[in-house]
Amino acid sequence: AEEVGGGDKEVVKEYFNNSGFQRWKKIYGETDDVNKVQRDIRLGHSKTVENVLKMLKDEGSLEGVTVCDAGCGTGSLAIPLAKEGAIVSASDISAAMVAEAEKQAKEQLQAVGENAAPMLPKFEVKDLESLDGKYDTVVCLDVLIHYPQSKADGMIAHLASLAEKRLILSFAPKTFYYDLLKRVGELFPGPSKATRAYLHAEADVERALKKVGWRINKRGLITTQFYFARLVEAIPA
Ligand code: SAM
Repeated sequence: AEEVGGGDKEVVKEYFNNSGFQRWKKIYGETDDVNKVQRDIRLGHSKTVENVLKMLKDEGSLEGVTVCDAGCGTGSLAIPLAKEGAIVSASDISAAMVAEAEKQAKEQLQAVGENAAPMLPKFEVKDLESLDGKYDTVVCLDVLIHYPQSKADGMIAHLASLAEKRLILSFAPKTFYYDLLKRVGELFPGPSKATRAYLHAEADVERALKKVGWRINKRGLITTQFYFARLVEAIPA
């Protein structure tokens, strides 16, 4: 049940451990039992992951680079990062998501032929507010949509404090979506599903970064019919 004032996170956690886990596992997977909207979101999300990998690899090899994947879901990014030789710490508020990510990592990161197996990511059930440590890179994809800008500011500040070189965020930009939310309400947590998705203006995200001494270095925009994501890479200003 939602408490007055602070219940969003509990609602999100409950959703991603239950119906949200089932829905998103399917969307992020490869099976054919997805509808048209889900298939389109799968495509958009895979483009986001591809873009992030490209952003990261453009700066050089990922071998030995420490990466924190905050809100890792089923491991869509953590697993390919590990394949590139990154030392990945992946965490999520949902124990179901973390268990699925770990299972997939074990399946996908086995030794192939004579090649040594890549290092498995370290998986943890943790909300991103309680993450600690220092990482070369911190990535947080498609998580901000579950938080209003008032809470997102604190999350961005916290994630930046963990990052030494760069922070990569994706979020649903305020310029799209309005209509759409009504149609894909089932993809968001909480009783009034269509209102449980929060859009963020790029300027607000930029301001939150600036407040803690960071600036946007690269931007991307990923759009399909039902998926919209603004991708930003920030670095210390
Ligand atoms: N980042 C993954 C990806 O792009 O494949 C998953 C994105 S999914 C739409 C959102 C994820 O954020 C869910 O797995 C959810 O459990 C997680 N999440 C939501 N709020 C969180 C929080 N406060 N801390 C950590 N994870 C959170």
